[in-house]
Amino acid sequence: MLNYDVLVIGAGPAGSSAARYASRYGLKTLLVEKRPDIGSPVRCGEGISKAWMPEVDIKPEAHWISDEVKGARIYGPSEKKPIMLTAESAGNEVGFVVERDKFDKHIATLAATEGAEIWIKSPAMSVIKEGNRVVGAKIRHNGEEVEVRAKMVIAADGFESEFSRWAGLKSPILKKNDIISALEYRMENVDSNEDFTDFYLGSIAPAGYLWVFPKGPHEANVGIGVTITMMKDRLDVKNYLDSWIKSHPAYSKGRIIQQISGGVSVNKVKDKMSLPGLLAIGDAARLIDPITGGGIANGMISGKFAAQVSKKAIDENDFSEEMMKNYDLMVKDKFERKHLRNWFAKEKLGTLSNETLDKLVDVVADVKMTSISVEEILKGVQLKYPELVSQLEDLI
Ligand SMILES: Cc1cc2nc3c(=O)[nH]c(=O)nc-3n(C[C@H](O)[C@H](O)[C@H](O)COP(=O)(O)OP(=O)(O)OC[C@H]3O[C@@H](n4cnc5c(N)ncnc54)[C@H](O)[C@@H]3O)c2cc1C
Repeated sequence: MLNYDVLVIGAGPAGSSAARYASRYGLKTLLVEKRPDIGSPVRCGEGISKAWMPEVDIKPEAHWISDEVKGARIYGPSEKKPIMLTAESAGNEVGFVVERDKFDKHIATLAATEGAEIWIKSPAMSVIKEGNRVVGAKIRHNGEEVEVRAKMVIAADGFESEFSRWAGLKSPILKKNDIISALEYRMENVDSNEDFTDFYLGSIAPAGYLWVFPKGPHEANVGIGVTITMMKDRLDVKNYLDSWIKSHPAYSKGRIIQQISGGVSVNKVKDKMSLPGLLAIGDAARLIDPITGGGIANGMISGKFAAQVSKKAIDENDFSEEMMKNYDLMVKDKFERKHLRNWFAKEKLGTLSNETLDKLVDVVADVKMTSISVEEILKGVQLKYPELVSQLEDLI
């Protein structure tokens, strides 16, 4: 039997961030990862913005950046004039397309540098509980099942997370309209614009969107996310993506060198993400942004929060439900309002026709984003498309 202050299950960005901060706070920390290679295989569009990085003490480093973009372009179904999100107009949307495997390894390295111990190829197999408190996990390590005891356990085992469920953290089952099925090709020999990440809305990606994230000259991640309620067949996502590529000569001539798929949760923030002795973070806590589908930043920030609450619980020798609620509150304080707003926007956008989406993009494209406001968008809609005001009021 081994003893730690903190045991973190899963070395994605959320888990490594939690392990890094727990170690920084002087806690004896073990990070376990079931896969033999941290960050690989990649299941990600690899797009991140910059604004949140100082919050988790991350400095951009060339070895995990494949492209730095000047902004994002959002296209309506007719793909005419896009909404431009640039440094001048919406600074925090500017960011990087990363090499996700290198990025994940970098965060794990930062955790190790702070003193965290890391075990790869070491899946958590079951939860150890004493009464209602989680006190550790059985880990398969070097072919043996090892009992690891910890004062605090952090579940960072991703979208398919089982650990918190094993521990008894009941969460409402995800509704079908809160699950996105995603498919992405890494493509060579394409002509994407290296300066922008591009997003395409409309019936080409029902109640979701299609993205093109440039990875460098003539290389890009071209992916699609579709809400599963809009799918009749498992293959629909592939058909949508293939048919968009086929109709765009800049991409139809490309070669697919990698294909990935996965699920993305796009729900409101959960009420409860903790149990005595256990905190769920990142995708395991379903913290993906409902409108962008991005979860790296939120995961890493929640990892920091979990380390802070672990430190407090250990210092005060208090592992009660009340103490754990501090974590739920920190997460809600940070994300709840934005996720709720984005969840409503995602629900509404999914109901708009191509024609309405085009008109909305047209109006917003003309709004100076530094001064974007509900009033301004409504004014624009009123001026250009008065018939749409009633349809869009609740969205805006
Ligand atoms: C197709 C697709 C595209 C995406 N694109 C983007 C994007 O462009 N930008 C963005 O910000 N987000 C994107 N996301 C979401 C993003 O990938 C996740 O939000 C992010 O990976 C969450 O980090 P995490 O650490 O919580 O979980 P993960 O990165 O999933 O890490 C969980 C880790 O836990 C490990 N694990 C699981 N079970 C166990 C166990 N029992 N024992 C030990 N280890 C275990 C896993 O092997 C994994 O390494 C995308 C997701 C998908 C599916």
